[in-house]
Amino acid sequence: MTTEDIIDRLRELQDVLCRKIALEREIIEIPKSLSSQEELVLRLKQNYIARNEEYVECRQRESEFRNMLLQAESEREKAEKKMDSIETQREYEALDKEIKDAANKEHNYRRDLQLAEQKVAALKTDMDANKELVDQQAAELAERKISIEEELSERNNQLSEIINEEKKLTANLDPELIFKFERIIRKKGGRGIVAVRGGVCNSCHMILPVQFANAVRLGSGVLSCPYCSSILYYEEIAEGEEDFFNEELAGSLVDLDNIEDDEFEEDEEFEEFEEKLSAEAEE
Ligand SMILES: [Zn+2]
Repeated sequence: MTTEDIIDRLRELQDVLCRKIALEREIIEIPKSLSSQEELVLRLKQNYIARNEEYVECRQRESEFRNMLLQAESEREKAEKKMDSIETQREYEALDKEIKDAANKEHNYRRDLQLAEQKVAALKTDMDANKELVDQQAAELAERKISIEEELSERNNQLSEIINEEKKLTANLDPELIFKFERIIRKKGGRGIVAVRGGVCNSCHMILPVQFANAVRLGSGVLSCPYCSSILYYEEIAEGEEDFFNEELAGSLVDLDNIEDDEFEEDEEFEEFEEKLSAEAEE
């Protein structure tokens, strides 16, 4: 394969890889949209369980108050009946106190019972509403799960088609080159292979050394940008575009001072190229 063939192949491959990466991301992201709804349903269920416990307790208290009220009532009635058969003032006073005490208790229990009944009714209304919400949200969640499963299986089908396309394009290409290429694409947001226009890398917008840009133009091997590692191919600039690039060049010269060291990492190709140049110069 000529350098030109490889470059053409890589440009085609870049499109395929970008689509693949986007799909892979979607496959990871799609199920995440469920998690907030799952959390909501869980929270509603927990809330319902807590309310239900409170409701059971409240019903228990309600029935206790009812029993105590009945007891106080019957105590009072019994004492009232005894009133018919008392003979002395002392007996009267004792019984009168008994009746008043029982009536007092009765009054208190009746009030407690009423409060408990109100609370039970309020909790019941609340729980019914809660139950309806839980059921509704759980049904919606189940529906969404099904549609997400469908969406995922569609995306996975698309992904295997793309992987087939990728396999066809990468046949006969150096696996190491492909590995590096895919890594740059992932790292640089899809810019694995870019044009050199007017001596400037179209990905990082740095000015390339003249001899290096020339080597790209002549197609002397698959070359990577020394600054951003993107693979480069040459693109002639149309007339009238030159001025724009001259301005760009002026701007980029400033950038040269700000390049971070790690941008230069793993650029053996460029180093080799420079060594070759200086060796040639010495000869
Ligand atoms: Zn670059």
